[in-house]
Amino acid sequence: MIISGAAVVTSLDPVHITRDDVHVKDGRIAAEGGGERHDCSGCLVVPGNVCAHTHLYSALARGMPYDLEPPEDFLQILQRVWWRLDRALDEDSVRASALVGGMEALLSGTTTLVDHHASPNAIDGSLDVLAAAFGEVGIRSVLCYEVTDRDGPERADAGVEENRGFLRRVAEGRWPLARGMVGAHASFTLSDEALAACVALADEARAGIHVHLAEDQADEADAEARFGLRAAHRLSEAGVLTDASLAAHAVHLTRAEAELLRESGVTVAHNPRSNMNNAVGRAPLAWLGPRLALGTDGIGADMFEESRAAFFRLREDGLDTPAGWPLTALTEGSALAGRLFDEPALGRIEVGAPADLVVLDYAAPTPLTDHSLASHWIFGLSAASVRDVLVGGELVVHDRKLTRVDSDELVLEAREESRRLWERLERIGPHPFSPSGTPAIAGGT
Ligand SMILES: [Zn+2]
Repeated sequence: MIISGAAVVTSLDPVHITRDDVHVKDGRIAAEGGGERHDCSGCLVVPGNVCAHTHLYSALARGMPYDLEPPEDFLQILQRVWWRLDRALDEDSVRASALVGGMEALLSGTTTLVDHHASPNAIDGSLDVLAAAFGEVGIRSVLCYEVTDRDGPERADAGVEENRGFLRRVAEGRWPLARGMVGAHASFTLSDEALAACVALADEARAGIHVHLAEDQADEADAEARFGLRAAHRLSEAGVLTDASLAAHAVHLTRAEAELLRESGVTVAHNPRSNMNNAVGRAPLAWLGPRLALGTDGIGADMFEESRAAFFRLREDGLDTPAGWPLTALTEGSALAGRLFDEPALGRIEVGAPADLVVLDYAAPTPLTDHSLASHWIFGLSAASVRDVLVGGELVVHDRKLTRVDSDELVLEAREESRRLWERLERIGPHPFSPSGTPAIAGGT
């Protein structure tokens, strides 16, 4: 295929725009290729976006009825919303969530999802269900199962085994568009034993660990009460924080914890919209190192929107954040995906790189240059401009429609599945788990 007529952003950081044709051959950007000409006159072509932290299991939660008392803090949000929803999931709802979430991601220009999955009553094989669904719509994914002790030691073991089996199947080449990490929930729901099992598996499979860190003060309070350590120090001592690992949130860090993260080379996924929505506070971004990527934490997968939220949230505090800041963070997300897929050029449109790219139908009302792109990204571009999407050289969105599946059908199925999921959810009470350093709650099931 030859993509012709467009302004092509070959790299987001540093920004570089060319007007040359893009040749795609055997899934990659090529110097010469021939084949069908794909007319993109007047369009802007950008590298596919990477969402560095999400939970597709929450895709069917939108608008879910809620009969309990409204949560008053982050822990209650988990106990009364997410830890009920995850227990209501079965294989069909996991599949429907992945299909509809994968669809929305592609239609908003996201070509890779880094997912953190939990379905405590349907653990075995759940990552294969996700990989198959994402493969069906044609999106790249990095998957892991959330190991936690909050649902008992058997489920913690089953979570470790789910990660182990999936990592093995990925290594065997079963899922070309998927890679695996070892999923760990967060320090405050993990025993030393479960954490050690995650680290042992990560060592054995040469994988990174995807974990939540200091999203809320409760994570830190628990680490201090149980171990006399800050959460990052506990994870570091256990061997979780390596340059292959990914830590989501990092909101309540001390300066020393931030230093520790920076030294370890761990990638931090910053999720500004989720943090605002949960009223957990602001990550100390200025203290963190260069490995800082953006995630949505399950609030869709629209990285244009997340970039904008991240930017405006920073600007509210001061004018020293340049418009290019989100592009740097998005590039870091691509670098993370590039390491996981062993594709160092992922996220750039250059010869040899996997052809993951997005065609935006964007009539720039002012000149589009290397210098101005960052401002167009913040003040002009949006997912509404996404016209076509290629993943691994395949046109998976063409003229705003998915090419591999019938999206209307998929949406109807998701709606049916959400009805069933919401019914099951009604019968599940608040989760009884409480970390140390917080009062226990009564009346869980
Ligand atoms: Zn999360």
